[in-house]
Amino acid sequence: MSGSFRIITIAEIPVKIHWTFGLLIFALLYLAYISGFNLQVVGWLALFIFSLFLCIVLHEYGHALTARRYGVKTRDIILSPIGGVARLEQLPDKPMQEFFIALAGPLVNVAICFAMVPYFMLYSFDGLWEVIESYRNQGGTSFSDFSVNFLPLLFLLNILLAGFNLLPAFPMDGGRVFRALLSLRFGRRKATRIASLLGQTLAVGFMIYGFFLGSMINIFVGLFVFITASQEYRMVKMESVLKENKVGDILRRQFTSLIPSDAMQLAFDGLKTGIERNYLVMDENREKVIGVLHEEFILEALKKKDHDALVETYVSEKFEASKPEQTLQEIFHKMSEQGYSILPVYEEEQLVGVIDVSMMNNFLMVQQKIK
Ligand SMILES: [Zn+2]
Repeated sequence: MSGSFRIITIAEIPVKIHWTFGLLIFALLYLAYISGFNLQVVGWLALFIFSLFLCIVLHEYGHALTARRYGVKTRDIILSPIGGVARLEQLPDKPMQEFFIALAGPLVNVAICFAMVPYFMLYSFDGLWEVIESYRNQGGTSFSDFSVNFLPLLFLLNILLAGFNLLPAFPMDGGRVFRALLSLRFGRRKATRIASLLGQTLAVGFMIYGFFLGSMINIFVGLFVFITASQEYRMVKMESVLKENKVGDILRRQFTSLIPSDAMQLAFDGLKTGIERNYLVMDENREKVIGVLHEEFILEALKKKDHDALVETYVSEKFEASKPEQTLQEIFHKMSEQGYSILPVYEEEQLVGVIDVSMMNNFLMVQQKIK
């Protein structure tokens, strides 16, 4: 995610904070201001927020380390004011693995609660009831209570974290748990469809409830869940389409190749018709591919009105060969990670065609519509 900064790396997984996290500091400053800069109050509040985010980080490590057991790596853990997310590199193959990975996060919060129980047993459970009572009476605790209600509040928030995350809707963990169980019977794609429909139904209910309550936060959360649910299904559908099809299924055998001494005008003309947007660049004898010309660079030349330029000025030498038997999934991820726009396709060392980003997008669009 752009705009995230790494703060620490634990167990080879970088923990990053998203820039919006900085908004929390403003919130803290604001609360400091209304408390008349009472250092003790602000100190307790800061410590509380820190502890809460520590619990969130532990929750994410619950996901990440369980995923590792199944051979799934975690790219990073990102914290934002609305919570954390452990970004796994891929979904695990087996539904039960996803089940345990998703469940591990909320279980960490439950474990934290259990770890606090001896403390309450030694001292008293009164603090817990007081916090619950004051929430029921006033809709919230006054933040100056943090020095007294620190652990009871942390305890209750961990229960809330576990409970909220177990709601059966994406992007919550409960959505994944539910999808994993459905996958055992229906396969991942249909399971995701059902899970995301349930998530969307819940989200709509949540929004209507928020509307009658006049709560913007409810409406906002509902909207967020609704959008994420449909994204999740689209993504799973896209992955399955990409996995089922091969480069050979969509490669284009007719294509124009350019040489470095060609005028860019040739590429401009092609762009106008829209059939070819990215080009292979061959050596002067047209024997070997030496580079590629990205649509992006052609547009840049057009913008600069560089009509007399030659292809050699704009050619990029970064590309790699692909083969007809490779899956579209493999190529798609390679293209988006490396920023390739077009790749030459070779069959037994022989250049037989090209595959490019716009063909790939077009193919996906058609598949989304017919499946
Ligand atoms: Zn989680």
